[in-house]
Amino acid sequence: MYDVIIAGSGPAGLTAAIYACRSGLKTLLVERAFAGGQMAISHMIDNYPGFEHEVTGAALANSMKLQAQRSGADMVTEEIRSFELLGDVKKIETSKNTYEGKAVILAMGAEPKKLCIPGEEEMIGAGVSYCATCDGAFFRDGEVAVIGGGNTAVEDALYLAKFCKKIYLVHRRDAFRASPSLVAAAKETDNIEFVLDSIALSVNGEYAVQSLSVRNSKTEEERQLFVTGVFFAVGQIPKTKLIEGQVELDEAGYIRSDEGCKTNVRNVFCAGDIRTKPLRQIVTAVADGAVAATAALGFEI
Ligand code: NAP
Repeated sequence: MYDVIIAGSGPAGLTAAIYACRSGLKTLLVERAFAGGQMAISHMIDNYPGFEHEVTGAALANSMKLQAQRSGADMVTEEIRSFELLGDVKKIETSKNTYEGKAVILAMGAEPKKLCIPGEEEMIGAGVSYCATCDGAFFRDGEVAVIGGGNTAVEDALYLAKFCKKIYLVHRRDAFRASPSLVAAAKETDNIEFVLDSIALSVNGEYAVQSLSVRNSKTEEERQLFVTGVFFAVGQIPKTKLIEGQVELDEAGYIRSDEGCKTNVRNVFCAGDIRTKPLRQIVTAVADGAVAATAALGFEI
């Protein structure tokens, strides 16, 4: 029996593991694929304190993972199939084992949202991608489109601009959710063209992406962007499917919790992008991890 089981090893889960172990809790960290979550696939991170120069997401993820291991957390790479959170003993069933714990920290994060336009699903892996850092290199010297107006979209456009010939940044409004400094950097980048007030209609092509159709919502004018890659960056959805009906969620599916990262279920805490919160960043995810692990230290018997 573990004192605490942490589900998910992004910055929130890894930090929770470091704090839980340092408090003497017997800690298990369960991760489906690789440590670091979305941080691990971020190209460069420039807003996490402590680094005079930019750091790659992969490097930061690896450091956090090594630190969590050094703290003494058990770490397994297994896909979680189900949670039983309501009893005194919490159970997590994975593809290989069932684990029991006195407390659980939910830190599974969020995943990219799909736009569900014609051609999107069919062309995944044939030009449609949800991760510029993972797939961008396939489009070296090519022309690509990025859809979205948040930090991810603008960061993706800036990243791709380093080695692609042309990037169309397609956004449904003319104001950006992304931070002004990123938008300013994109505006100064010669090979990024802003396609604003524009709705993506369909991804076109027979066996691979050949174009993206967009419509200007003000002029109703339709346009074909001749690209071989389309990167969707239209937001995130929380990974809370497996805990629906057990833990209280908000309308968008994020976990409701108090300032101490406590959910409505006894000895169940949450941390990182999976929570209802105003700012989803690495720096707030690690803060949640520390708070949740400290709250878990006082688990009620
Ligand atoms: P986001 O901030 O929610 O932005 C999603 C973008 O997609 C918005 O511009 C939105 O348009 C657009 N969108 C949503 N649904 C759409 C639809 N049906 N059709 C067309 N466009 C649609 O998502 P994100 O950029 O993935 O960021 C998620 C969180 O991670 C944010 O809190 C962000 O700040 C954080 N993040 C931070 C960094 C960083 O600090 N370096 C990097 C990446 C992400 P509207 O604006 O019109 O709603």
